[in-house]
Amino acid sequence: ALTAGIVGLPNVGKSTLFNAITQAGAESANYPFCTIDPNVGIVEVPDSRLNKLTELVKPKKTIPTAFEFTDIAGIVKGASKGEGLGNQFLSHIRQVDAIVHVVRCFDDENITHVSGKVDPIDDIETINLELIFADLDSVNKRLQRVEKLARQKDKEAVAEQEVLSKVKDALENEQPARALEFTDEQQRIVKGLHLLTSKPVLYAANVSEEEVADPSANENVAKVQEFASNEGAQVIVVCAKIESEIAELEGEEKEMFLEELGIPESGLDQLIKASYSLLGLATYFTAGEQEVRAWTFPTGIKAPQAAGIIHSDFEKGFIRAETVSYDDLVDGGSMSVAKERGKVRLEGKDYLVKDGDVMHFRFNV
Ligand code: GDP
Repeated sequence: ALTAGIVGLPNVGKSTLFNAITQAGAESANYPFCTIDPNVGIVEVPDSRLNKLTELVKPKKTIPTAFEFTDIAGIVKGASKGEGLGNQFLSHIRQVDAIVHVVRCFDDENITHVSGKVDPIDDIETINLELIFADLDSVNKRLQRVEKLARQKDKEAVAEQEVLSKVKDALENEQPARALEFTDEQQRIVKGLHLLTSKPVLYAANVSEEEVADPSANENVAKVQEFASNEGAQVIVVCAKIESEIAELEGEEKEMFLEELGIPESGLDQLIKASYSLLGLATYFTAGEQEVRAWTFPTGIKAPQAAGIIHSDFEKGFIRAETVSYDDLVDGGSMSVAKERGKVRLEGKDYLVKDGDVMHFRFNV
C-alpha cells in the first residue's frame, strides 16, 4: 500500500501530529491490507460523498476508505553523513511514496528549537539538503557504473547517463530532482533511481492554537507558503496540538468544536485529503443495500484492476462494470432514476476509472 512519510526536524510537532492521526482511530479490522507497525498510522479518508450516498441508499453499513502515514523520526543536520539516525532515517524515507514535511511555525519559548530560533525556511532547507546530499551520493555511484557502459555505446547506458547528469547538475545547484522535466522514457529511468528528492512533497505548517483560525497573521506561514509555491507544492496549516483533541471527536461534537475554533475543516482532515491526492490516490464507491463503501485506487487504473481491489476473483472473472458518476447518481436521487436517464454506463475492461465513480462489477466465477 502507498504511504506518506511524516518528516521534519526534532521538536516541530511530528509526534503530536502522528498521535492525532493514530487517535483518529481507523478500525484496522476494516483494512486488513494495512501494515501493523507502530510507526504506521491508518487514517480514514474524510469524504462527504460517502455520507450523501449513505443517505440515498440507506445501507446497513458504511465503510470509508483508508490509507497509511508513516512516522519517520530522527532527521537532524548531517543525517546524510551518518549523524543522528543517519542512514536508517534515509532508508525509511526511501520506502515512502510521498513526503509530508512538518515545519514549525509556532513560537513557544518553552520548547527548544534545534537551531535556536524558529526559522521555517532554514528548517526546510536543512532537511532538503540532507535529501539532496543523499541523492547526490547515489547518483554519483550510479554514474561511475554507467559511464563505462556508455563509452561502449550501450544504448540504455547512454540514456541513463544523460538522465543522471541532468539530475546531478540540479542536485549540485541544490535543486530537488522533482523540479526537473523529463520525457516519458526518461521518467521511467528516474523512477528506477529511487531518489529521495523526486518524491512528491507537501508542507504542514504547524501553528499555535491561537493562530489556527487566522494563520495569515503568522509570518512564518507566509514564508512557507511563498517557498512552497515556488516549488509548486501545497501547504496545509495545522495546529498539531489541538488536532489530537479534535481527533477524539466525531460528528456533531467535532463540528461544534471546529466552529468554536473558527475553522471550517480540521487541519488534519485537510492534510489527509491533500496527502491522499499527493500519493496519486482516488476513490470509487460501491453502493448496495448491505453496504456503501469507499475504495482507494491509484489514478490511471482500468476497471478490472479496480475490481481486483475488492477481490482478486472480481478481476479474474471481470465482465463489465455498471458505472455511474457520483454527481449523476445524486442528481437523479436514486440508482433507478439515474438508469432511466441513461446515466448508468456499462463499462468494459479498458475503462479508466474516475474519482467518484459508483461501480457495480459483473464477473464470472
Ligand atoms: P517532534 O520532535 O517533531 O516529534 O515534536 P513533538 O511532537 O514531540 O513536539 C515537540 C514539542 O512541541 C512538544 O512539547 C509538543 O507538545 C509541542 N508542540 C507540538 N505542536 C505544538 C503546537 O502546535 N503548539 C505548541 N505550543 N506546542 C506544540
